[in-house]
Amino acid sequence: MSDVNAVPTAGFDSFGLHSDILRAVADQGYTQPTPIQAQAIPIVLAGRDVMGAAQTGTGKTASFSLPIIQRLLAHASTSTSPARHPVRALILTPTRELADQVADNVRGYAQHTALRSTVVFGGVDMRAQEAELRRGVEILIATPGRLLDHVQQRTVDLGQVQILVLDEADRMLDMGFLPDLQRILNLLPKSRQTLLFSATFSGEIKKLAASYLRDPVTIEVARRNATAENVQQVVYEVAEDDKRAAVVQLLRERDLKQVIVFVNSKIGASRLARQLERDGVVTAAIHGDKSQAERMQALEAFKQGGIAALVATDVAARGLDIAELPGVINYDLPYNPEDYVHRIGRTGRAGASGEAISLCAPDERKHLVEIEKLIKRDIPRGQLQLTRTSAYHERDGEERRNGRSGSFERRPPRSTRPRHVAPEDEIFYKPYEPAPAKEDEAADVKATSEPASPKPPKRQLAALLGGVPLKTPRD
Ligand code: AMP
Repeated sequence: MSDVNAVPTAGFDSFGLHSDILRAVADQGYTQPTPIQAQAIPIVLAGRDVMGAAQTGTGKTASFSLPIIQRLLAHASTSTSPARHPVRALILTPTRELADQVADNVRGYAQHTALRSTVVFGGVDMRAQEAELRRGVEILIATPGRLLDHVQQRTVDLGQVQILVLDEADRMLDMGFLPDLQRILNLLPKSRQTLLFSATFSGEIKKLAASYLRDPVTIEVARRNATAENVQQVVYEVAEDDKRAAVVQLLRERDLKQVIVFVNSKIGASRLARQLERDGVVTAAIHGDKSQAERMQALEAFKQGGIAALVATDVAARGLDIAELPGVINYDLPYNPEDYVHRIGRTGRAGASGEAISLCAPDERKHLVEIEKLIKRDIPRGQLQLTRTSAYHERDGEERRNGRSGSFERRPPRSTRPRHVAPEDEIFYKPYEPAPAKEDEAADVKATSEPASPKPPKRQLAALLGGVPLKTPRD
């Protein structure tokens, strides 16, 4: 990833953006465009299709939102008639959290204009979304499954979409959204501008671009599968049983005020969150078993600084933008090395420096090898002197302390325990599927059928590296 601090010579006022947009940019506190903004804004303004290699954290949202708002200003209307507010720009994202964040940004950037925007995603009641859509919006941010639900309910008409953004397109394919994307693309006017953003350009992404983009301009601010240069990476070899003590110690010693702690399974996320709470760390967990409302609440509390450690699975954390996050901790190394790049992209954002700490148990060394192969560099090994070990004994699914506070019953020697097996949690390979909300059950059954389970990691990795065609399970 290129350094978002690398200051391009021209400022925002050099793009010819309307003063209402410049005012909003100033309200956000942005003084200089980031490299992706410097490159993309003029191209999007010129109406060209874009194939952008940029991760979340580079300022990519503004790089497409600002010129979209500029291009739509000619249609801004204060009329209350819904007919005067058709959907003209559609922004598709893989996850609800990312949709919500993009929508927040768009709302901010368009706040001084008469353009309307809204966001629709699954897991919440459709009725409020229907009301918003019926009022009319020019800019619609959506996850694919819920958008198709609205199309089916005829609450939205995509016949006047002039600009389509596919945000985190690689993730959308990973999550099995290709059939939904194809359905949506068939509903859009052929003559339109299409902007595709992706952290990686796999063969599948190139195929998607070849089918739906017209003569795109390629913009690349992140080296393929590179890791952020302003992120300091380190790996500690820690026994599985000592990982939790390591997290607590790192939080204290490093003065890491806030971290996202990544785990590979939702069960592991819940358990670790409970344990960290007991260790006195204010913690919340976000994963697929949490309702949308709970996830939003946890995220908001984290953003407000009320939570020190947000324990998250990859799918739940995808695309999260949390400003100035000082660090991430990989409690489990990801099975899919590509997720490592996404995880550590949560820190060192917008030019801030960050620490990416990985805890590697002996059983996980093979994952580390894969990660280093992918990022084409060795991650420095660190030494961690644990002041306390946190070995605990799980019996009948219950953690048992030995009575004295702060000390934990030792586990039996390794030889008498079953070998640690990486948690096989199929949910990890699936996108978030909310429990059907009662009032919206029928709709949610459809929404939860949104993405099918992605491929096993080996195939995924091979496909990311261009080795095999990445077939989606719903092909
Ligand atoms: P994004 O990659 O769009 O998720 O943006 C990452 C973060 O950078 C967000 O918190 C943005 O508000 C912030 N950001 C975007 N553009 C700029 C800029 N030109 N200057 C400073 N911060 C920015």
